Amino acid sequence: MLPGCGFARLLGVSRLRPFRVRYWLLLSRICKGGVMEKTLRGRCLCGAVEYQVPDALEYAGYCHCSECRRFSGSAFSAFGGIAEGNLRVVKGERHITSYRKSEDSLMCFCSVCGSSLFSRKLKTGMVHLRLGTLVDTPSMQPQAHLFTGSKASWYQIEDGLPRFDTLPS
Ligand SMILES: [Zn+2]
Ligand SMILES: [Zn+2]
Repeated sequence: MLPGCGFARLLGVSRLRPFRVRYWLLLSRICKGGVMEKTLRGRCLCGAVEYQVPDALEYAGYCHCSECRRFSGSAFSAFGGIAEGNLRVVKGERHITSYRKSEDSLMCFCSVCGSSLFSRKLKTGMVHLRLGTLVDTPSMQPQAHLFTGSKASWYQIEDGLPRFDTLPS
């Protein structure tokens, strides 16, 4: 497990809870200190759907699993996790269509242009934003490559980030 990286939320386990408590304490201190949390804006290709989240991703990574590759039509999906309550769809909610990929995952995309926007993780209450739909730069950048066991054979990972065959254990 990456120390305190927040991937515990991705896994739906609470082993890193003490870290999370410290994290939120730190965050609330920063806010009380008058430094306003930045807002990240996101939108689909055609602009029918726009959303906003606080710049407080709990984890971020590159997922190379075959499902992310198919849904994104690319070598991998860059995603960032944030608690569902933090996501605000500010435009075009009616244009969001979802596909129930599994018990746990609802894949949400723009029904006009097909952009993959985010997935809702029903068990953990998290939303996985597709980082490519962000207009602004998140403070937290992807921290690891996940599901590299199913990576596209034609894509070579060339950065030094940690790699996991499936999920961090
Ligand atoms: Zn669209
Ligand atoms: Zn994936």
